[in-house]
Amino acid sequence: MGGSQPAGELIHLSKGQRRQTRIGIAECLAHGLKTGNEALILIGADGKKVDGTIPGSKYSVNPDDELVQKSVASIHNHPGSRPCSFADVMYLLFENKHEHMFVIGHNGTLYTMSRTNETKEWLTRWTMKDIWDEHLRLNKHQWRHGPAEDPLQLVYSKAVAGFAEEVGLDYREVQP
Ligand SMILES: [Zn+2]
Repeated sequence: MGGSQPAGELIHLSKGQRRQTRIGIAECLAHGLKTGNEALILIGADGKKVDGTIPGSKYSVNPDDELVQKSVASIHNHPGSRPCSFADVMYLLFENKHEHMFVIGHNGTLYTMSRTNETKEWLTRWTMKDIWDEHLRLNKHQWRHGPAEDPLQLVYSKAVAGFAEEVGLDYREVQP
C-alpha cells in the first residue's frame, strides 16, 4: 500500500471526475451511515454520476452490468471501515472496464485503487484462473474475510494490499 496522502487527494482523475467523486464519496458515506449497509455510486467518463445510488447489503453491493458498462470508476462504502477486500481487487482487475475504485470507511478513511500500465501488462500474462490456482492456493489461510475486530482481518488486509501491489494497482489510504 502506498503512503498516506493528504485528505481529498484523488490523483489520476480529471478535474470533473474529481469533483463528482468527492460528492459521490460523501453521498455513499451518508447513505451507509443511515442504513448500515453498503451502497455504490458509478462515475462516467464525463465525470458525471451514472444513475442513482445503488443500495446493497451489509457486506456487498452488486450493480447492474449495463450501468457498469457506462462507467469508468466506482465508489462504495465499507460499514466496518475495512480496507479494500480481495473481491474489490478482483473486481477492478476483471469484472469491468473501471480504472478506479474508491472505498470509504464509516470511520472516514478513504481507500483508492487505480490501474496502472503495470496492471495492464500484468493482465496480458495472468488470467483469473491463474489467481485462483496460484495466489489463493498459496495464501489460502490469508484470504479470510472476518469482522473488523477479528485479528485475522489485519493479516487479510495486508495480504490483499500485497496482492494489489503485485498486480501494479496504485493503492492508497487517505486519512480523513
Ligand atoms: Zn468493498
